[in-house]
Amino acid sequence: MVIELYELLDNLSERTKVKFEKQPSVINKGDAFDVKKLPIDKAEWHAIDDVVSVNFDMKASTNLAKGRSPQSTASIYDAGVGGVVKIFQEFDAQFVDIQGDGGFALFWGNLRYERAVSSAVTARTFSIDFTEQLENKWPKASSTGFKLGVASGSLMAKRVGLPRHLDLQEPVWAGNPVNYAAKAAQQAVDVMMNVTGSVWDAISNNDYLTFSCDCGNPALLWDSVILDKIPDDEKFGFSLNRHWCRKHGEDYCRQVLAGKVTRVNIPDNERHKRTLLANASTELVAAAKSRANQRNTTTTLFASLGS
Ligand SMILES: [Zn+2]
Repeated sequence: MVIELYELLDNLSERTKVKFEKQPSVINKGDAFDVKKLPIDKAEWHAIDDVVSVNFDMKASTNLAKGRSPQSTASIYDAGVGGVVKIFQEFDAQFVDIQGDGGFALFWGNLRYERAVSSAVTARTFSIDFTEQLENKWPKASSTGFKLGVASGSLMAKRVGLPRHLDLQEPVWAGNPVNYAAKAAQQAVDVMMNVTGSVWDAISNNDYLTFSCDCGNPALLWDSVILDKIPDDEKFGFSLNRHWCRKHGEDYCRQVLAGKVTRVNIPDNERHKRTLLANASTELVAAAKSRANQRNTTTTLFASLGS
């Protein structure tokens, strides 16, 4: 192989100039956004104004191979990563991407927040059984489970790669949700899952997702958390330290996916706690207001794009 290095770099420099001068068109696809219809050899990006991304990450996976055969390590990836992908499929994720020991699922359109958050809680629930089986099988080797993060916002996509080489054409997603969900997941400790500010804004009135089940007295399940690695108002996140109950989980999950939000037996003081949680400081209130403004701006911006 002989690389014509200077020619390659000079060509790229020229290409960059042309791309900057002749900017691609961005088309707002809204809910009709379809990964399969993303252009490859055309200067065109498809945009969608609100997408929910669920990221997951196998905890401490760098130590997984320690004290295990390659076959055992492979089976852990198959069971773990494969299991989470199955969950995303069940909840009708429109796109799933896996990279090694983690990945993300994207949800848009009808009930996107409900499907995304329910799938994340389901992955959390799966993680408990997965970790238990892992520890029973290899009591001395290091254990793992899944860290989960959920974020939302606008995205643009295009297939970038070589025309006619389908295997080299990966969709490229430009926008914050995937990145922010990854940061939210990284910060999730042990059995927690974290959601960014906008995700909380969308689900905070849902009694099925925010209060514990009727096995005991329903109580608020979430706490506020600052997602340090996120640079804007999305960093004012919330964390959940719970999974689906074996008795009520299925029913609650179905109610959520049916768009139901209200349970009649939630004590007033718990509802009050939920209100307080989002209004705990002037900083939190200001952040929520600015997120709402941001959403309006995005909607206006995207409305001006062709479709
Ligand atoms: Zn229960």
